[in-house]
Amino acid sequence: MEKLIFEKSVLGRKGHYLSPLDVPEIPLEKLLPAEFCRREALILPELTEGEVVRHYTQLSRLNYAVDTGFYPLGSCTMKYNPKINEDVANLPGFSRLHPYQPEESVQGALELMAKTQEYLAEIAGMDAVTLQPAAGAHGELTGILLIMAYHTSRGDFKRNKVIVPDSSHGTNPATASLAGCQIVEVPSNERGGVDLEALRAAVGEDTAALMLTNPSTLGLFENQIKEIAEIVHQAGGLLYNDGANMNAIMGYSRPGDMGFDVVHFNLHKTFSTPHGGGGPGAGPVGVKAALEPFLPKPVVRYDEQKKQYVLDEDRPRSIGRVKAFYGNFGVVVKAFTYMLMLGGEGLKEASAKAVLNANYLMKLLTEHYELPYAGPCKHEFVVTPRHTDQTGVHTLDIAKRLIDYGFHPPTIYFPLMVKEAIMIEPTETENKETLDAFAAAMAAIAKEAREAPELLQEAPHHTPVRRLDETLAARKPVLRWKE
Ligand SMILES: *Cc1c(COP(=O)(O)O)cnc(C)c1O
Repeated sequence: MEKLIFEKSVLGRKGHYLSPLDVPEIPLEKLLPAEFCRREALILPELTEGEVVRHYTQLSRLNYAVDTGFYPLGSCTMKYNPKINEDVANLPGFSRLHPYQPEESVQGALELMAKTQEYLAEIAGMDAVTLQPAAGAHGELTGILLIMAYHTSRGDFKRNKVIVPDSSHGTNPATASLAGCQIVEVPSNERGGVDLEALRAAVGEDTAALMLTNPSTLGLFENQIKEIAEIVHQAGGLLYNDGANMNAIMGYSRPGDMGFDVVHFNLHKTFSTPHGGGGPGAGPVGVKAALEPFLPKPVVRYDEQKKQYVLDEDRPRSIGRVKAFYGNFGVVVKAFTYMLMLGGEGLKEASAKAVLNANYLMKLLTEHYELPYAGPCKHEFVVTPRHTDQTGVHTLDIAKRLIDYGFHPPTIYFPLMVKEAIMIEPTETENKETLDAFAAAMAAIAKEAREAPELLQEAPHHTPVRRLDETLAARKPVLRWKE
């Protein structure tokens, strides 16, 4: 295991050089009250520059990243994103703006935001978009608050129930509950779609909305969406689309055309920021015209009278601010760059490739794994291991063994409706060789499960740490280098 930097420290070793003082030294006590002065020197690691550089470089190499290998994390879209998009977001004209600058001095940034809103609205078939929310789940919360504001503005105070199919992303019921609504869960039918009878029974005068993840977490497109929309709308409810995975449908179908009233996007999935990349994200929300007055303020728009872009605060029916300032601007710049670079046709091709890659990999894997819901799939799919009872090998063991084969494991044990789920999203940026290599590793692991199950149960074998006690790690994290 890699030693900690404190353990590598040798007293008196130095990695810095300070020039001698060329001004009179002022005793610390003259600058600070005595009680604030440190009486003993701080214990810091003492190393040379070379040691420090090697230490951190080695640490970084222990990290598995989308820049180092295939990262098929279902529901997370860990695809490769062009570095030029980062460069553009880093241009000083964008990165050094101050959020309190006067509107006249940030016209370019406001135009970029207004155009991003426009493009996203076009992609999703919506009338207006806000860029404020910081992530997908935050977009969901914003969307449900918009829906509640819409109902109450019409004097409709009874609507406090949100219907959520069991194939929805876990954030959907969590969001509805955070917004103060009650959750009504409807089951899926045998094909993984919404059970329409159960939905008809669930809707009523108290229905605020249906939240639907489409494509679902099984990677399946809900092809009864027109009927679903009709059932919910007839009951007076609105339709919310969890559109986190727009790379499944972009350029082919639009939530707005399917009957959805509200949709959120994950810019940090489809639009050039990796999900879970450690940095900020953005979860813009698109709405139909009836919900536009309630959008978070300020609203970015072009003012015909002033002949410039403005941050409109004069929005009496707005649900208010949901994020400091205007959202995560850098992420928006990357998304805008990405959309401009690809253009409409390119975005459509990205979806086509995401879906093609997923179906290709699904086909390869079904030779060795079960497919609980038949495809074709969209951007991702779910498989399960075979003969778990006989082999004693579980999904966790397969995931750990994949690490030995040099792959980041897929998402596991999600969605909850599938026992032993392995949820795989290859993304549009992987080539056939990578998909074949991953499928070969999964095939080899399936064989090992039958012939040498302990190889899997004890995996990973080649990592600095083996299996961690995840509960203990969460309950008693070791945050200091020594007691
Ligand atoms: C990723 C995802 C979310 C949540 O997005 P965050 O940015 O992680 O909050 C919601 N729904 C679906 C379907 C997702 O894939």
